[in-house]
Amino acid sequence: MRSLLKIRVHSIAGKLILGIGSLMVFVGFLFALTFNKEFPDVPLEKTFYYGGPFVVIISVILFLILYFLVTKPLSYLVEGMKRLSAGDMDYRINIDSDDEIGLLAHSFNAMSDELKEYKEKMENWTKELEEEVQKKATEIYKAQEQLINTEKLASLGRMAAGVAHEINNPLTGIVTFSHLMLRRTPPENVQDIEDINTIIDQAERCSKIIKGLLGFSRKTASEKGPVNLNTLISNTLAMVGRQSRFHNIRFDMRLDPSIPEVVADPNQIQQVFLNLLINAADAMEKKGTVTIATRVVKNNGRESAELEITDTGPGIPEEIIGKIFEPFFTTKPAGKGTGLGLAVSYGIIKKHEGVIFVKSQLGKGASFYIHLPVLPRTA
Ligand code: ADP
Repeated sequence: MRSLLKIRVHSIAGKLILGIGSLMVFVGFLFALTFNKEFPDVPLEKTFYYGGPFVVIISVILFLILYFLVTKPLSYLVEGMKRLSAGDMDYRINIDSDDEIGLLAHSFNAMSDELKEYKEKMENWTKELEEEVQKKATEIYKAQEQLINTEKLASLGRMAAGVAHEINNPLTGIVTFSHLMLRRTPPENVQDIEDINTIIDQAERCSKIIKGLLGFSRKTASEKGPVNLNTLISNTLAMVGRQSRFHNIRFDMRLDPSIPEVVADPNQIQQVFLNLLINAADAMEKKGTVTIATRVVKNNGRESAELEITDTGPGIPEEIIGKIFEPFFTTKPAGKGTGLGLAVSYGIIKKHEGVIFVKSQLGKGASFYIHLPVLPRTA
């Protein structure tokens, strides 16, 4: 009833009232004139007196029929359109009739459903796109960091090679001449013999460091052949298994039996495995689990064999993770670490056209990965 009171002249209902009212007044007037002609005895005022209310009642009935059948359903449609254009996709029109208005309401509801579905799809796509962009941006950032690190290590390698080469010759001289001096020294000069032996020991220590530097700068010769990483890591474990630092360490082996062979120098790759295993044992303070896994991965469409060594140690802090492959970087106490293990490993893997990298979360251990290009499979 309230909506009936809200009818305005320019609305369809308003126009209906005006139209039907005028029509009925006109029809009533015609009827009264005709009636008066047929029955001149009945006074005209009487005809209006009885005919007027009749005309009004018929007009109201006609108006109500039209209002409930046309105007009200149309107002629902108008309201729906307004809401839809304001972005409200949940508004539905509740008209069940089989006529044109019902069909219109049904089409409106179907259109709202489709629009809602489309809007949800668009929102999901946008979200997925944003996530993908974020993921790619992180990947690019990481790749950039890795590139800078690789460049830094490459220039360090060149410098290390130069320094090692310059020091190696005088060092060989020191060792050779010390040995000659030792031979010439009479046995009763005990102190001299002890001093010369110290020189030889120290020079040999330097020699070892130089060897490490040469390894990092990839200036050592290698003998390459087809190698199965599963066999190589198993042999390495058999070798280190006897050492006390590995006695309380559990090895969780997840080797892919179908891993293809790689072309490598087995001694050098074994040295890399050893370095990683020793670091893992040191990080875990000689107790915990080391997971060793092999699998095939694809890098830029090229197949590589991957070897993963994951420990349950404290992990590597963010601020040093970019430095651990640099020569002489160590967090181990003086005399325990030289900081050459990972630098040499990096040099060896680089020389094999492979990659070595680390992933670590503080408190959750460290995972080292080695990728080596596999031999093309023969049919
Ligand atoms: P060193 O073992 O002589 O310190 P490395 O080059 O092998 O030299 O390692 C460099 C540094 O990298 C280590 O001192 C240590 O801080 C860090 N590191 C290497 N492996 C691990 C590991 N598995 N967990 C935590 N830190 C590690």
